[in-house]
Amino acid sequence: MSDTPAFNSPLKWDSCPFCGSTKLYRDRILNPKPFVVCCNECGATGPDGKTKEAADAAWNRRPLKAAPDLAPTLAVMIKACADQFDFYAEQHLAKSPPDHAKALVNLDFAVRCRAALARAKDTQ
Ligand SMILES: [Zn+2]
Repeated sequence: MSDTPAFNSPLKWDSCPFCGSTKLYRDRILNPKPFVVCCNECGATGPDGKTKEAADAAWNRRPLKAAPDLAPTLAVMIKACADQFDFYAEQHLAKSPPDHAKALVNLDFAVRCRAALARAKDTQ
């Protein structure tokens, strides 16, 4: 039993934190909290709310880290970025004359990527 069968304006709800879709709708579920926002693309739901507004707000607060299937993808991409920044740093150092400033910028980003990966592992 869908409360709002038509797709919403993307302005009302944030895009799906799992798949990025804006094809969302609000549904009615069983008590105690009868309202829930759902993604029509990947099937993500909730959190549920006692009111429509509460369900809407809960959806918009939903953190990205709640997407367990996305976390490995992000880790792979961040690792790839770190490796790419290392490569760029090497390229800048291989120039004649070497561009130490640009190499340092890239090495800094590589370090930040690896620090983010280490933090993500700690919180899992
Ligand atoms: Zn989705």
